[in-house]
Amino acid sequence: MFDQFALHERLLKAVAELKFAEPTPVQVAAIPPALEGRDLRVTAQTGSGKTAAFVLPMLNRLIRDAQPRVDVRALILLPTRELAQQTLKEVERFSQFTFIKSAIVTGGEDFKVQAALLRKVPDILIGTPGRLIEHLNAGNLILRDVEILVLDEADRMLDMGFAEDVQRLVGECDKRQQTLLFSATSGGAALRDMTAKVLDDPLHLQL
Ligand code: AMP
Repeated sequence: MFDQFALHERLLKAVAELKFAEPTPVQVAAIPPALEGRDLRVTAQTGSGKTAAFVLPMLNRLIRDAQPRVDVRALILLPTRELAQQTLKEVERFSQFTFIKSAIVTGGEDFKVQAALLRKVPDILIGTPGRLIEHLNAGNLILRDVEILVLDEADRMLDMGFAEDVQRLVGECDKRQQTLLFSATSGGAALRDMTAKVLDDPLHLQL
C-alpha cells in the first residue's frame, strides 16, 4: 500500500485515483530515502515504476516546502523527447490535486513557444539537455533556485554525447539540495565519473 510512505494526502489521493494498488520494488526501495532528502544512485529498467519513485518524493518536497514561485524548483533531465513526454504525463497525473505546475522543453518543438512557457516559470521543468542549454544561452532559463535535480536514463544521456551539456546544467543548479540519478545499466567509467561529481554521499540501489 502506498500509505506506508509519508506522502502528502494530495499525492496519496492521486495514487488512489490511478488505481496503483502496491508500490513496485524500486518504489519501495527508493521512496523512503528520497523523502528523507538523500541523494540516490538507482539502477532500474524502464517499466519498473522508476518515474513514480522520483516524482512522488519530488512533489512531496515541493508541497512541504511551499513557497512563492520565483524560478524553477525542480529539474528532470532525460535523453529523448519521447521519454520527456512520458515523464511529463506521469508528473501531471501525480500533481493533479496540487498547485504544482510543470512544463516540458525538448528539441524538435517550437523555440519561441517554449520561451513563453519558461516565462511563466513552472515549478518542475522536464527536458532534454541540448535544448535546455539553448534556452540557457538565450537567457530564457534560470536554474539557480532548483532544489531537486533528477538525471533519468543517465547512461543513455552519456551514450548520446550529452555529458558536457549535463555537466553545465548541473553546474547551474548550484543550490540544489537533492540529486537523484537513474540509469538502466550500471554504466561505465563516464557514469561513475558523473556520479562522483554530481551526487553527495549517495545511497546506491540496484533493482
Ligand atoms: P516507468 O518504469 O516509470 O516508466 O513506469 C511504467 C508504467 O508503470 C507507467 O505507466 C506507470 O504509470 C506504471 N506504474 C508505476 N508504478 C506503478 C504501480 N505501483 N502500480 C501500477 N502501475 C504502476
